[in-house]
Amino acid sequence: MLLFETVREMGHEQILFCHGKNPDIRAIIAIHDTSLGPAMGATRLFPYINEEAALKDALRLSRGMTYKAACANIPAGGGKAVIIANPENKTDEILRAYGRFVNSLNGRFITGQDVNITPQDVRTISQETNYVVGVSEKSGGPAPITALGVFLGIKAAVEFRWQTQRLEGLKVAIQGVGNVGRNLCRHLHEHGIKLYVSDVNPVKTEELKRLFDATVVTPDEIFSLDVDIFAPCALGGILNSHTIPFLQAPIIAGAANNQLGNEQLHSQMLAKKGILYCPDYVINAGGLINVYNEMIGYDEEKAFKQVHNIYHTLLEIFNIAKQQGITTNDAAKRLAEDRILNVKRSKSKEIAA
Ligand code: NAD
Repeated sequence: MLLFETVREMGHEQILFCHGKNPDIRAIIAIHDTSLGPAMGATRLFPYINEEAALKDALRLSRGMTYKAACANIPAGGGKAVIIANPENKTDEILRAYGRFVNSLNGRFITGQDVNITPQDVRTISQETNYVVGVSEKSGGPAPITALGVFLGIKAAVEFRWQTQRLEGLKVAIQGVGNVGRNLCRHLHEHGIKLYVSDVNPVKTEELKRLFDATVVTPDEIFSLDVDIFAPCALGGILNSHTIPFLQAPIIAGAANNQLGNEQLHSQMLAKKGILYCPDYVINAGGLINVYNEMIGYDEEKAFKQVHNIYHTLLEIFNIAKQQGITTNDAAKRLAEDRILNVKRSKSKEIAA
C-alpha cells in the first residue's frame, strides 16, 4: 500500500502509529476530518492478519465516521482506532498505554467502545485520558435512542415512498431483536404495525410474540417475506448478491452497521430493484448522538431532539438521490461532503476577514 497516496486519496488529516515495548502495544489512530469538530470514533481490538489489514480498517471506518457525524448534524469529525492484539492477550497495562496515546492528541480524537472492548476496558482507558466516552451511565445506553432514530427513519421512508404519514397496517420484518430491535418493535407496535421477527435466540422472539403479537419466522425466511419494510438489526454484510434477489420489501430501514456487503455494487443492485435503502450510518446515528451528548453533559431532551434530524436528513437524501439519479448511499455521502465543505468555506472566510 502506498501510504501517503492512500491517505491523500481518502482525505485523512493524521494517522498516529502507536508503539511501545513495555507493554508491547501496536495501535493505529486514524483521524479523518476535524472540520466539524473533534474526531469521534470507537476503539476496536482485533487480531488482524497483518498491519495493512489493520490500517485499512482504521482508514475506512474513520472516514465512515466523518460521514456519519456530518449526516447526523453534530459538531464532530471522524476517527477510528484499532489495537492489533488477540483479545486473550488484552491487559490493563496495554489499555492504559493506549489511553496515554489518546491523551497525547489533546482532544483531537475522542474514543469509545467497539469490538473486543468492554465498558470496563473503557473505564481502564479513562484512567489515562478524559477523551473517552461511554464511562458515564447517565444515558442508560445508546439502544433506545438508536431505535427511535430507526423508527423516525422508517417514517421518512414511508412518507417519501407512498406520500403518507399513516403507518397503521404496514408490515415490518425485523432481523435481530436484541437491544435495538426490541425497542424498535415497541415503537412500531404502538403505531399499529404488524411485526415479523427473527433471531437466533428463540427466547427473544417468543417475548415479542407474547408482548406484541409478532409473527416469528426463521433467520432464513426473514429475507423473502412479502412485507413493506425490512429492518436489519443484527449483523453487517447481510445485503449481498445472495440475499438481494430474495428481497420483496420496497424499503430497507434498519440499525445494523455496514449492511451492504459491497457498498457500490449492492447499493446499485437495490436501486435497480426499486428498493429504497436508508443508508445505515444515517438511520443508526442515534448511537453516535447519544455518545456525543454524554461527552458534552447528558441532557435527554436535547439528545432526543437531535435524533429527530434523522427524519429530515433522510428525506433530504432521498430527494438528492431522485434528483441526481444516484443511489441513496452516494446521496448521503454527497450531503455529508457538502456540509463539511460549507463549514470549511465559512471558516476560511472568517480567517480572511
Ligand atoms: P444486540 O447484540 O443486542 O442484538 C443483535 C441481535 O441479533 C441479537 O439478539 C442476536 O441474537 C441477533 N442475531 C445474531 N445473528 C442473527 C441472525 N443471523 N439472524 C437473526 N438474528 C440474529 O445488538 P444491538 O445493540 O441491538 O445492535 C444491533 C445492530 O445495530 C448491530 O449491527 C449494531 O452494530 C448496530 N448498531 C447498534 C447501535 C446501538 O445503539 N446499540 C447503534 C448503531 C448501530
